[in-house]
Amino acid sequence: MPVLSEVIAALEALWPPERAEQWDAVGTVCGDPDAPVTRVLFAVDPVQEIVDEAVELGADLIVAHHPLYLRGTTTVSAGTFKGRVVHTLIKNDIALHVAHTNADSADPGVSDALAGALDLRVVGPLVPDASDPAGRRGLGRICELDPPVRLAEFAERVAKRLPATAQGVRAAGDPDRLIRTVAVCGGSGDSLFAEVRAAGVDAFVTADLRHHPASEAQQHSPLALVDAAHWATEWPWTEQAAAQLDEISDRYGWGLRTHVSRTVTDPWTAHAASSVTHHQ
Ligand SMILES: [Zn+2]
Repeated sequence: MPVLSEVIAALEALWPPERAEQWDAVGTVCGDPDAPVTRVLFAVDPVQEIVDEAVELGADLIVAHHPLYLRGTTTVSAGTFKGRVVHTLIKNDIALHVAHTNADSADPGVSDALAGALDLRVVGPLVPDASDPAGRRGLGRICELDPPVRLAEFAERVAKRLPATAQGVRAAGDPDRLIRTVAVCGGSGDSLFAEVRAAGVDAFVTADLRHHPASEAQQHSPLALVDAAHWATEWPWTEQAAAQLDEISDRYGWGLRTHVSRTVTDPWTAHAASSVTHHQ
């Protein structure tokens, strides 16, 4: 049975913390390096529902994609919602480890898992990491669809293959446009429009698209946009990451039990479709 420091060393080999963006806060949030680990829960968000799920499961470690604290804090009082997470974790001997932008840019990374879920063939990174001689690491992925499909069909595929959320999937562009090449970026990808245009793809799948960047992208070129729930675009990574740790556990004979949380932690909980005709 491994101890936490051994499991974390293995996780840091998959997603080296030094490859995270400068502004990010990755690594171990809490946990005793000498504590034994038998069960690991993978999740996107280190929120109270996930910590409660880990307690229920008897997990010793949560591996989350999003940081608990992105900036410094002066309190972990249980009177704050993040402090309550810390208290629940420590009282139940559960460690928390975060792999965020270091998991985004990894090979395989968050966008590889998204492409895999959508049955797309990855051609390479959208924004290659200059430090990778193999040219496989980096942000986002450029992918191909074989056979090409209409935008309307492709948006339906995205909605069907990603876990269900209240938001569902929105698309921008001519619904009949044939989509052959796609850029994907798990999470908020609206800072990557210039790179997506430069890649010359037919469509861009990401989350959190806002009016002005989307409107300007539409005016600029016929690029189709597919906007899914942030949580849903990153959830496929939790399955990929759990499979990676399973493989390591088998190699070392650790006998770890890995679990993937299916709790929907996307903050949006209801959706009302507009009537098709605008009220005159
Ligand atoms: Zn995210």
